Amino acid sequence: MSDSSVWDNFVQCVEAAGMEAVKRTNTHWQIKGDLLVNYWPFAKRGATAHVSGTKSGLRNVSLSQAIKMARSAPPVGGYRGKRDRRSGGYSKTKAKMLRKNNKCWVCGKKLTQRTATLDHVIPLARGGQDNHNNMKLACEPCNRKRGSAMPELSDNTEHNEENQ
Ligand SMILES: [Zn+2]
Repeated sequence: MSDSSVWDNFVQCVEAAGMEAVKRTNTHWQIKGDLLVNYWPFAKRGATAHVSGTKSGLRNVSLSQAIKMARSAPPVGGYRGKRDRRSGGYSKTKAKMLRKNNKCWVCGKKLTQRTATLDHVIPLARGGQDNHNNMKLACEPCNRKRGSAMPELSDNTEHNEENQ
């Protein structure tokens, strides 16, 4: 298959799944579903997919696996990777984010420096990054309720870290 027919097939499959296909470069494509998946179809050691906001990607991912990754939660304990450090302190990050948007991303309630909490969109237990790229402001009850679940995703099964 030529690169362009691989792309056409990619777009077709992604759109059939109700998602958006984006070509960042000729070798870096994206699937915009409930989660953003970066996809490198021509990587030397097999197509690679990386859920944005998580610590590490997966190799040898089929297109249908990559699409599933865009709508289901990463596995608990999955995506082992290096520890990452949050830049800046907790309340500093909170204040900065409050200036941009002061509403709970789950219920829409207005937040203050005192009521806002930093919620990891992809929970740390699921390999989410501990930095602002993976954080949104939430009220304490919403943050607690989500815990390590991702109820906002359309597919509530987990996608498996192991490749079949
Ligand atoms: Zn809330």
